[in-house]
Amino acid sequence: MHDLTDGPARFRRDVFPAKARLFARLAMTHRPKTLFIGCSDARVVPELITQSEPGELFVVRTAGNLVPAYASGPDGVAASIEYAIAVLGVNDIVICGHSACGAMTALAEEHDLSATPMIAGWLRHADSATARAAAVPAAPGTPDVATLVRANVHAQLQNLATHPSVARAVAARTLTLRGWIFDIATGAIETIGGAAVAA
Ligand SMILES: [Zn+2]
Repeated sequence: MHDLTDGPARFRRDVFPAKARLFARLAMTHRPKTLFIGCSDARVVPELITQSEPGELFVVRTAGNLVPAYASGPDGVAASIEYAIAVLGVNDIVICGHSACGAMTALAEEHDLSATPMIAGWLRHADSATARAAAVPAAPGTPDVATLVRANVHAQLQNLATHPSVARAVAARTLTLRGWIFDIATGAIETIGGAAVAA
């Protein structure tokens, strides 16, 4: 692994020249077609797992790939969603959960978060995911992490749909919502449930 001084130098020297024309064009335009909402987890790299070039993904990453349901007042995630749709005109939004998610593990294993109140408060945005996972017949009581990861993608798609900009674009059929789960060990991406939410 290179450090934070070597990395940028290597990028400029070894990587940038081959993409110089792309970056010259991107310097003048920003028209991504996809909003990718993923977990902040360092192992889930949106451009890598989708093989996207610079300029193709508008990315929001939060702990647990959580999207707070719409509420009035300033909210960085909500502002980014609105910008992606109303200004950039994205046609797709992906919410990508992943295996071994630390946020979902904390909830599934009921970790004591009293010493980290900001994390505890943030994870309340997954309340509907834990409720949904607990109701799965195959996982009575406390859900396992994989069940919760899956339920959380569904729950965050529902939260996403509460944002007016999303609701408008979905109703106009200019936007599709998609749910993915990325498996770190195999690199596989499972598609779940997005189409039903968008319909
Ligand atoms: Zn995660």
